[in-house]
Amino acid sequence: MDSGGNSLPSGPDGVKRKVSYFYDPEVGNYYYGQGHPMKPHRIRMTHALLAHYGLLQHMQVLKPVPARDRDLCRFHADDYVTFLRCITPETQQDQLRQLKRFNVGEDCPVFDGLYSFCQTYAGGSVGGAVKLNHGLCDIAINWAGGLHHAKKCEASGFCYVNDIVLAILELLKVHERVLYVDIDIHHGDGVEEAFYTTDRVMTVSFHKFGDYFPGTGDIRDIGYGKGKYYSLNVPLDDGIDDESYQSLFRPIMGKVMEVFKPGAVVLQCGADSLSGDRLGCFNLSIRGHAECVKYMRSFNVPLLLVGGGGYTIRNVARCWCYETGVALGIELDDKMPQHEYFEYFGPDYTLHVAPSNMENKNSRPMLDEIRAKLLEYLSTLQHAPSVPFQECPPDTELHEEDEDQQDPDRRWDPDSDMEVDDDRPLSIRSRVKREIMEPDHKDSEDVKEPVDHARDMAVSYNTGNTSLKAPNLGSDQPEACVKMDQDSSNKPSDQPTDMNL
Ligand SMILES: [Zn+2]
Repeated sequence: MDSGGNSLPSGPDGVKRKVSYFYDPEVGNYYYGQGHPMKPHRIRMTHALLAHYGLLQHMQVLKPVPARDRDLCRFHADDYVTFLRCITPETQQDQLRQLKRFNVGEDCPVFDGLYSFCQTYAGGSVGGAVKLNHGLCDIAINWAGGLHHAKKCEASGFCYVNDIVLAILELLKVHERVLYVDIDIHHGDGVEEAFYTTDRVMTVSFHKFGDYFPGTGDIRDIGYGKGKYYSLNVPLDDGIDDESYQSLFRPIMGKVMEVFKPGAVVLQCGADSLSGDRLGCFNLSIRGHAECVKYMRSFNVPLLLVGGGGYTIRNVARCWCYETGVALGIELDDKMPQHEYFEYFGPDYTLHVAPSNMENKNSRPMLDEIRAKLLEYLSTLQHAPSVPFQECPPDTELHEEDEDQQDPDRRWDPDSDMEVDDDRPLSIRSRVKREIMEPDHKDSEDVKEPVDHARDMAVSYNTGNTSLKAPNLGSDQPEACVKMDQDSSNKPSDQPTDMNL
């Protein structure tokens, strides 16, 4: 692994990648409460498997630096972040109005250390983006991240802060276009909503659609304004198997890569799309799920892998361990090594588990129709004359002092084993890129509050059912609610710039 950056010696696959893996040993101690299906312990189980399969020695293992208030406020509303920081299980009964307002309580309970948990999982994803931006790795992994349902000022579906949106905002400092791919069984609504009106981020979500949380993700929802055709949704039905899934994933993602040409890719690897998930209803094997990682990896574009859903925790650990092997280009023995959570994996103690014989409700004609529709959208994009697909101008060398007192590396734990690099060119680069983007900025636009739809949908993630269809975000929510720091980090955090990306 002598590659100094993202330029890999040869492709399309099979070449070793430099991988940075983010893990906080504390993350497994956070506890959503008795009976709650979301169990951060699965991250610790994944880590134990990685350790005993000998994968840790093949990658850089980093403890994430916790995201700070101001980092979270690049996307989230200040008062929401303050609420998350201050709320405790002891004080929550005095805050009933706030709990309701921010959708915290049922699916998204208040628990001990909630804010630290958010800081940790967001810190890993943003830290991964920083590493990729610096060309210090080819693939960054944060299995604790991937909480794709969180909104600007609202928790949703076990998610409090949206680490993916934050990581994409970080990647946009360097990359003109970023691709987001979501293979969780649930629609990646929080990420889609954040970037619904921009052509700089394409979101593609493969998910169960129809009477299922969060209710959004119709094939007809494709983005709005400049973002039209830059949000893609692949609605699927129960029981989809590996072969059916790949019959969509490969042609669609192949075309997306060809047409959109992203500078970086974020892949949300929610493991609730696996066969036998406690909340899911798909029938993917671990190999089938990992095929998506393998395929996205094959394009040799800087790749951030994050976790997400996954509620049969032994299978989540299996899946993310196997996918870490895929990232590294190491095939793992099916026979599981002895380790502290070995008893979870009986009676077979194997890495792989057979999918079930459940019915695949996705018929061939339905799949063909979905694929044709998405390829049609993409070909519209390909032939649209106004779409600016030219590469970014090369980095400009500025002969000015970089006065930034703080920089992206402030996130790094000084005790970590990360090699120190000179970030100065990067922060100058970021500023140049931002200036290039500035003409689109609408000074008159205030922060738009997102349409308050989530609370109106009698929805429970736990049951997966929705009683109401969510409104089409496109028609009544034309503005992305995204903040971007104006100038790296030397501006006060209470003066964010709302960027029209
Ligand atoms: Zn999910």
